[in-house]
Amino acid sequence: MKPKVAVHKFSSCDGCQLALLNAGEELLTLSELVDIVHFVEAGPVDFDAQVDIAMVEGSIATPEDLERIQCIRANSKYLITIGACATAGGVQALRNLADGQGWIDAVYASPQYISSLATSTPIATHVKVDLELWGCPVNTRQVLAAVRALLFGVVPTVSRDSVCMECKRVGNVCVLVAKGTPCMGPVTQTGCGALCPRFGRDCYACYGPAENPNTTALARRFAGLGLVPEAVARRFLTINNADPVFVDAAQQARGKT
Ligand code: SF4
Ligand code: SF4
Repeated sequence: MKPKVAVHKFSSCDGCQLALLNAGEELLTLSELVDIVHFVEAGPVDFDAQVDIAMVEGSIATPEDLERIQCIRANSKYLITIGACATAGGVQALRNLADGQGWIDAVYASPQYISSLATSTPIATHVKVDLELWGCPVNTRQVLAAVRALLFGVVPTVSRDSVCMECKRVGNVCVLVAKGTPCMGPVTQTGCGALCPRFGRDCYACYGPAENPNTTALARRFAGLGLVPEAVARRFLTINNADPVFVDAAQQARGKT
């Protein structure tokens, strides 16, 4: 019997599932090694399947999510979060910093039909997570490598080098130095192959914090580029706005610590 794999969705844009689908041939190769028993975007549906590996996209944002994630954990040997929403709460966690109910009342004509929690939280806040893969979207190669490692009984490893290190490896021209754009690469973990600087734009930290990030020095550098404190704070509060490292950096930029 082949090992069983499920891909579950919570509050998210589906981008990480699409990234998996876009893996094309590599996904076909994976499907020869495992039975993909639940992956709604690809076809198979079995929400309650007992599996060897569950991949989870999306954050916990509704009362139903709270119950469903407990069932998924109970039904899975290994649980991997894929992407920024599942790993750090996602862009929807911006409501954690604001009056979420106020936004619902302002946006929806019939807010009484909206049932959501006051916060958006990562999967690890609620259940044990065996491996966290960051990115918006996640890097498919990282996902497939992690699944292969688990199938062969090897502990998966994820590099937490900064995007800057990756820039140097691939020979990118530094957009912070050459163009003076406020690049988040020095404090962001790699995994994307320094994709944005490769196309001449700054990194906006979609892979979350690198190991030992010096956010204070980077914030000082951004101020030197002419960013006002609130603009510096907002550089840290984008896709991974609920990550504690970036929350602290934003508060420090605003002079609140
Ligand atoms: S472009 Fe950004 S990520 Fe690349 S080396 Fe410069 S600061 Fe680092
Ligand atoms: S360079 Fe930064 S923003 Fe761009 S994909 Fe990589 S981590 Fe994400």
